[in-house]
Amino acid sequence: MAKTGNIQISSENMMPIIKKWLYSDKDIFLREIVSNASDAITKYKKLVDLGEAAGDEKYRITVTADEKAGTLTVEDNGIGMTEEEVEKYITQIAFSGAADFVEKYEKAGGDGIIGHFGLGFYSAYMVSENIEIFTKSYREGEPAVHWQSDGESTYTIEECEKEGRGTKVVMHLAPEEKEFLKEFEVRKLLNKYCSFMPYEIYLDPKGTDEDKPVNTPEPLYLKQPKDCTEEEYKTFYRETFHDYQEPLFWIHLNMDYPFNLKGILYFPKVKKQVELERGQVKLYCNQVYIADNIKEVIPEFLMLLNGVLDCPDIPLNVSRSFLQNDKQVQKIASHITKKVADKLSELYKNDREKYENCWQDLANFVKFGCIKDDKFYERVKDIIIYKNLAGEYRPVESFFGEEVSEEDSKNGKEPQAVYYVSDVNKQAQYVKMFKDAGLDAILCDTFIDPHFISYLEYKNPSKVRFLRIDADVAGELKEGSGEDKEVEEIFRAALTDKKVTVKTEKLKDEGVSAIVNVSEFMRRMSEMNSFYRMGEETEDVTLIVNTASPAVQALKGAEEETQRAAAMQIYYLALLAYRRLNPEELDEFSRNQTKMIEKYLQK
Ligand code: ADP
Repeated sequence: MAKTGNIQISSENMMPIIKKWLYSDKDIFLREIVSNASDAITKYKKLVDLGEAAGDEKYRITVTADEKAGTLTVEDNGIGMTEEEVEKYITQIAFSGAADFVEKYEKAGGDGIIGHFGLGFYSAYMVSENIEIFTKSYREGEPAVHWQSDGESTYTIEECEKEGRGTKVVMHLAPEEKEFLKEFEVRKLLNKYCSFMPYEIYLDPKGTDEDKPVNTPEPLYLKQPKDCTEEEYKTFYRETFHDYQEPLFWIHLNMDYPFNLKGILYFPKVKKQVELERGQVKLYCNQVYIADNIKEVIPEFLMLLNGVLDCPDIPLNVSRSFLQNDKQVQKIASHITKKVADKLSELYKNDREKYENCWQDLANFVKFGCIKDDKFYERVKDIIIYKNLAGEYRPVESFFGEEVSEEDSKNGKEPQAVYYVSDVNKQAQYVKMFKDAGLDAILCDTFIDPHFISYLEYKNPSKVRFLRIDADVAGELKEGSGEDKEVEEIFRAALTDKKVTVKTEKLKDEGVSAIVNVSEFMRRMSEMNSFYRMGEETEDVTLIVNTASPAVQALKGAEEETQRAAAMQIYYLALLAYRRLNPEELDEFSRNQTKMIEKYLQK
């Protein structure tokens, strides 16, 4: 005789709530049911280890999709349940567990619980009209039990026939959920959620023994690092992230104390240099997939990497905001950060060549990491490298100066100027002058560098200031005092309707008649404005006229009209070494030049 019962808690109104919230994540139901099966096997295995049960067969979970019958079945040969246990664990615990989950979920405000962890058996009702359980306990003499319920308010339970120990959960899918009956779809879900579950999972409608399990019960990350080969790491990477490019290197995390943390983080090759490329860090809990890129657990900059992390110690059935402030989670996050920094330092020390070869791919990650996390900066600051004009990598700190004391600073002493090139082609003339004068500069040509050098200045305010190579005439380019009022006057007169400040200097290179400088501060402001679309990019140009140039000196004796025309051309030549001319400028420049050629030829 089948017994019927009422489900004690008010489940009628729970289902609509669960469905509404979990709609986009409803496929987690399969994870929940399969992980229950896996837990049941673990429990049985423990009994075997204790000698309380005979373990003579292969443990396995079988998932079967039957399109005709409209059922999805998950079967295990785990511990099984007695009638009493079904009443207790399924009717009471599973349903009140779901009620508990709904309550937490409501408090957390909708999407608050990561991967909707903790919903359990009940989640299968998101996709099922009816669920049957056939189960037989490992206990001798206990009859098999058949339980079924529509999940709303009533259930029936009765004895039944079942071969072998274990549990079979038969989900009768709702008509609109039939996609979960397609083998392809089921395989996809098993790959997503169950790839690393500890027992073999078979998806075999025919049930032949030749089938291969869909999962890898002993994923590489659980092994001891010393037992893993380079090839294994690469294969694991390829299979997990489907990236056809090899990773640069990896970090294998493996600790049991003071918290449990296993995983592998891979540094991928960067594909484009123009933006930060998001990676994929998959979070697992005891080999069960939870979700990708959980920012409450993994520091944001680490999500530029690819990796798997398994941390059973993270409480995942609490709200996200709780996780954010959880001390344990913070410890785990800072441990991962430390490991990453250690790995980079180790590579820097032990294999500088590889480090330099990888730097292009690492730089964005490291710089972004520093900006996001001061502690990370402290750990890696002496291994941040930049190329100098000779094309050699050097630690950026080696360019910094001695700390300027407060006293000296009050007297106007500025921190060491480090010149940088943001575009070797556009700034070629300046680069040449620097090289000729034996000066050095660093190459800052990635999109993140402008932000990063500001960050370095902020962290080292009395040791360094960065100036773009065209921002200022470095002292070493000059030779004595070059002030020349007469020359200044000639240029001011010629350039009255241009927005430009005129200065004279005596430069070492006689062949350069003038150069343009643009104040670093103003340029950065203007770049920032245009970045935030807060106004036009403006230029604050200073023309440095070189009084050592014979051409400039020759101006002095010339007649006024020639003076003006020549001064204008010198200005344009300097401007050309700095940027492209706009259409009006180009027009004026060419007409002027043509006239000069004409005059020259008529002489
Ligand atoms: P949780 O797994 O979080 O405890 P569930 O709602 O998923 O919650 O399951 C409730 C209980 O039902 C489990 O704790 C377990 O005792 C029992 N159970 C569920 N599935 C199985 C199974 N396949 N085999 C044995 N017991 C099971």
